[in-house]
Amino acid sequence: MKLGSKLLVVLCLISYALSAQVNEKAKKYGEQVSEAALRDNLSILASDAMEGRETGKRGQKMAAAFIANYFDELGLKAPVNGSYYQPVNLYSVKSGEVYVKAGDSQYKNLDDLLYFGSGNTNGEVTQSVVFAGNGSETDFEQVDVKDKAVVLFVEGMRVTNSKAITMAREKGASSLLVCNTKTQEDFDNFKSNARGFASGGRLSVKKPDMSSPDAPLFIISPAMTEKITGQSFEKLTALADAGITAKAMKKIKPTTVQIKTTAEVQTVKTENVLGYLEGTDKKDEVIVVTAHYDHIGVRASGEGDLINNGADDDGSGTVAVMELARLFTKAKQEDNGPKRSILFMTVTGEEKGLLGSAYYTENPIYPLANTVVNLNMDMIGRRDKEHADNNSFVYVVGSDKLSTDLHTLCESINSTYTKLDLDYTYNDENHPSNIYRRSDHWNFAKNNIPIIFYFDGIHDDYHRPSDEIEKIEFDHMAKRTKLVFYTAWEIANRDQRITSDKK
Ligand SMILES: [Zn+2]
Repeated sequence: MKLGSKLLVVLCLISYALSAQVNEKAKKYGEQVSEAALRDNLSILASDAMEGRETGKRGQKMAAAFIANYFDELGLKAPVNGSYYQPVNLYSVKSGEVYVKAGDSQYKNLDDLLYFGSGNTNGEVTQSVVFAGNGSETDFEQVDVKDKAVVLFVEGMRVTNSKAITMAREKGASSLLVCNTKTQEDFDNFKSNARGFASGGRLSVKKPDMSSPDAPLFIISPAMTEKITGQSFEKLTALADAGITAKAMKKIKPTTVQIKTTAEVQTVKTENVLGYLEGTDKKDEVIVVTAHYDHIGVRASGEGDLINNGADDDGSGTVAVMELARLFTKAKQEDNGPKRSILFMTVTGEEKGLLGSAYYTENPIYPLANTVVNLNMDMIGRRDKEHADNNSFVYVVGSDKLSTDLHTLCESINSTYTKLDLDYTYNDENHPSNIYRRSDHWNFAKNNIPIIFYFDGIHDDYHRPSDEIEKIEFDHMAKRTKLVFYTAWEIANRDQRITSDKK
């Protein structure tokens, strides 16, 4: 064999390794990814009628019904006891009456103070007040804060996680009355900025435990601090700056406050939508294809269009899941069904903190041990400024994190069928945007299930009413949908299961 032909063989082997042989069956169905079908479905999901698809709201329910109906028409199996819905209960804590009384003055939540907490005092309770200055370790050595209402000076606007507050809680404080401003004006500014944060109940998958809440935290004004302690602000500042001493504190006349907090747990009912296509051969092994169908709802105020239609985020991924469901179903009807099973899952609560996928991975319908891979799409219909001249790219995130095999497969499938520019910018786990942990695949990755996340980048319409269907590039989106289709096809049909070899 001459050198030249040896080189040729090597080159052939290299190119074979990069791009596998075209599978004609895969191609038959992959080529049928339809811009028209993607557009038809998105024109409904991203319409104003869906009211921005906010978790638990009417629009989200309508979107769920639309997707479930689509799965039903395809003939996918309804895998949750005969239903396409996996019910997801989410919880928030809503505060009711909250106040602090000192002498003849009553200070109410959101008007005179800001309350951060989730507990119930079960009526009004009286607590002795103790001043702990700036809340340093030595300050806490000088005063006993156990079972007391502890008044503290804490600098800065992000006070709720400060070290002084944590220490006071550890030492058994009953409540925390924290002053972080020096003037009424500064307090009023802080109040208006933090008000939404203090009053808004964050949704969670776990039911909040109301029986042993953290000591309630109240952010109070300088004037209220004076009233509660019976001391002037100047004197308190001087005491704090000098460092608290037991001796100095003895000279301060003891005071008490009356505190009342009420709160109740509210339940938000929502649902993941699942359609299942059983495999022909290795049916116990499941590929999960996901996108979130919820979005951020309607803006409370403003000019013009207030509905966040979320055409790209994540209407685009949702209709791509539906399109994959259509084509794999068609393949199965024509005796070309996948060997492994495929779960098509559009998830809820992503915008509230990846909650629908968190719920699924905690309450899986198919065992996680048999879950081969998660392919997740979140925003695949647009391009970012970095790719202004490129209508053939996709950001790929996470493919190499848990499985060498999966990463190689992803590259090989792309070079064989779709030839997109795979951009790994966001694959860096230390990238400031933290994309690897910011969509639903993360809940699968946390469970050591290999994932690939497909993403089109951040654009100016992100989380704005201007994320509209008119701005979707359906040709571009169809190419990305094909990449996910061929990848799913290969993973579902190859002999060897994708395994995670990294951690
Ligand atoms: Zn999204």
